[in-house]
Amino acid sequence: MISKKLQDAINDQINKELFSEYLYISMKSWCLSNDLEGFANWMDVQSKEERFHAMKFYNFINDRGGRIILKAIDAPQADFKSPEDVIDTGLKHEYTVTASINKIMDLAIAESDHAAASFLKWFIDEQVEEEANFTKVLNKVKLSGGAGAGLFMIDQELAKRVYTPPAGAAADTAA
Ligand code: MG
Repeated sequence: MISKKLQDAINDQINKELFSEYLYISMKSWCLSNDLEGFANWMDVQSKEERFHAMKFYNFINDRGGRIILKAIDAPQADFKSPEDVIDTGLKHEYTVTASINKIMDLAIAESDHAAASFLKWFIDEQVEEEANFTKVLNKVKLSGGAGAGLFMIDQELAKRVYTPPAGAAADTAA
């Protein structure tokens, strides 16, 4: 059985992951309106990962005998200055998600909830990858000067990203 404190923290995290999904489809729409279809595809894949994260937390609360409570999702940012601003905003957002997951891990450790700590380890590792993915794209956009042929080439590269759910994962069905 999960503690009330941990359950509340994970319910808040579900909201943060769903907000992330919302933010990235908002970024996708900005990219589409600026004819950056590769960037839009990259954000679409990212948004699907966020939905997966939310449902992974969702299923964990249920598996531990807790109660899932969904909250209102804030409106995401709609306007951005440039493709660089889009990616930079996404990276900064991921930093806040990492900090939030670290706090939940601190709580699981404080409560000696080993099942929660084991579960959260996946997210600790995932955040390393999330930050690295955004950082790589941001550095490429910066190298290109954020315009012209360089940006066009990055857009072509980002068009190739494909969403692959983790092996054995059935995040959208309550196990
Ligand atoms: Mg996430």
